[in-house]
Amino acid sequence: MHLRLTDEQKMVQQTIRRFVEKELMPLENEVLRNEREGKPSLPTGKLKELQLKAKEAGFWGINTPEEYGGANLGQMMMAIVYMEVSKTFVPFSFGGSADNILYYGNEEQKEKYLIPTINGEKKSCFAMTEPGAGSDTQNIKMTAVKDGDHWVLNGEKTFITGGNEADFVMAMAITDKELHQKSKGREGVTCFIVDRDMGWKSEYIHTMGEWGPAGLVFDNVRVPEENILGELHKGYNLGLEWIGFARWVVGARAVGTAERLLQMAIDYAKERVTFGKPIAERQAIQWMIADCAVDLEAARWLALNAAWTLDQGEDNRHLASMAKLYGANMGNRVVDKVLQIHGGMGYTRELPIERWYREARLWRIYDGTDEIQRMIISRNLIKGHVKIGQYI
Ligand SMILES: Cc1cc2nc3c(=O)[nH]c(=O)nc-3n(C[C@H](O)[C@H](O)[C@H](O)COP(=O)(O)OP(=O)(O)OC[C@H]3O[C@@H](n4cnc5c(N)ncnc54)[C@H](O)[C@@H]3O)c2cc1C
Repeated sequence: MHLRLTDEQKMVQQTIRRFVEKELMPLENEVLRNEREGKPSLPTGKLKELQLKAKEAGFWGINTPEEYGGANLGQMMMAIVYMEVSKTFVPFSFGGSADNILYYGNEEQKEKYLIPTINGEKKSCFAMTEPGAGSDTQNIKMTAVKDGDHWVLNGEKTFITGGNEADFVMAMAITDKELHQKSKGREGVTCFIVDRDMGWKSEYIHTMGEWGPAGLVFDNVRVPEENILGELHKGYNLGLEWIGFARWVVGARAVGTAERLLQMAIDYAKERVTFGKPIAERQAIQWMIADCAVDLEAARWLALNAAWTLDQGEDNRHLASMAKLYGANMGNRVVDKVLQIHGGMGYTRELPIERWYREARLWRIYDGTDEIQRMIISRNLIKGHVKIGQYI
C-alpha cells in the first residue's frame, strides 16, 4: 500500500493544474458576465480555441480508450484530473467526453456517433428521467412501438443535461409493456440513439444554478431499427450500470472546488482585519478552516478509493455511492463556511462563491439523490453484499 501519487500521476496533476491556471481561470470573469446576461458560458469559438490548446499539449481524449485515439489514462488518473479542473467553474473537459454507454454500440454506431462525440464534433445527452419518474427510474412511461423497420417514440423526458445543445440523445423507452411490468421495470426497456433531426424538441429549464438542463418531447418520432443501442429490451441495465460505477466523479469534482474555496477563505482571513486583528487569528475562523480541511481530505480519499477500485477491475459501486454522498455534502458544507468567512463579500457577485453555493446544491440531487445513495449503501450492508471495512 502506497498512499502517495506516482511521479507520472504528479506530472499529469501539475500539467493539468498549469493549464487550468493559465488558460481557464483567467476566463472566469467573462464566464460570470456571460452567465448573468443569459448567454452561453463561453462562445463556441473560445471553446474551440481551448480544445486546440489542450490537443497541442497532448491532453485530449484522456479518458478515451486507445483504440479510439485516446490516452485511456484510467480512473485514478481521471480522479486527479477532475479534482484539478474543478478548481475553476469555467466549463471545460479534456475531450472524449462521450457518454460511456456509447461504447456498447456496434461498429456503425461507433463510427457515426461515438467517434464524432470523442472528437468534439457532435454533442450527446442521456435521457432517463421523466416528469413522473426520477429516483424511481423503473417507472418511466415513454414508449417505443415497432412499425416496419422503425420504432415510433412517444413521451417526455425532463432535466436532461445538455438536452438543449445535443445533436443526438440516448433515450430510454418501454418496448415491451408486459415484460416491463413483470420484471418491475428492469427489462422491456430499450435505449435508442435519436438524432435531433428525427424530430424531438427541447426546451431549456431555468434552475437556481448556471446548469440549464432541458425538457424533451417526443411526438411520434420515428427511429430506425439500427439505432437501438445495445440489446432490445435490455436498456435499463445499460443506463444504470454506467451511472453506478461513475458516481464518484461528483465527489472528486466537489473536492477540487472545495480546495479552491478553502484557499480563498484562508487568503481572505489573513487579509481581513476586524477589531484590530486579521480574522485568521480568531478561533471561530480557525475552526471553520480546520473543519473544511478535514472534511475535504475525507472526501478526497473516498473518491480516490472508488476510482482506484474500478481500475483494479473490482466492483466499486458501494464506494462510488459513498464518495458521491459524502463529497456532495462536503462541498455544500465547505462552500457555506467559506461564504461565512467572507462575510458580506461572500454573498456578493463580486466573488464566485455565491455561484458555487448555488451549483453545489445540485450535487446532492443529480446522479442519484442523497437519499438514494443512503438506500444503496445501507442495503449493501444489511443484505451482506458488502462488509464494513472491506475496501482496504
Ligand atoms: C440539473 C440537473 C441535471 C440532470 N441531468 C440529468 C440527465 O442528464 N439525464 C437524466 O436522465 N436525468 C437527469 N437529471 C435528473 C436527476 O437524476 C433526478 O432529478 C434525480 O434522480 C431525482 O429525481 P427527481 O428530481 O424526480 O426527485 P424524486 O425522485 O421525485 O425525489 C424527490 C425526493 O424524494 C426522495 N426520495 C425518492 N424516493 C425515495 C425513497 N424511496 N426513499 C426516500 N426518499 C426518497 C428523493 O431523494 C428526493 O429528496 C438531472 C437533474 C438535474 C436537477
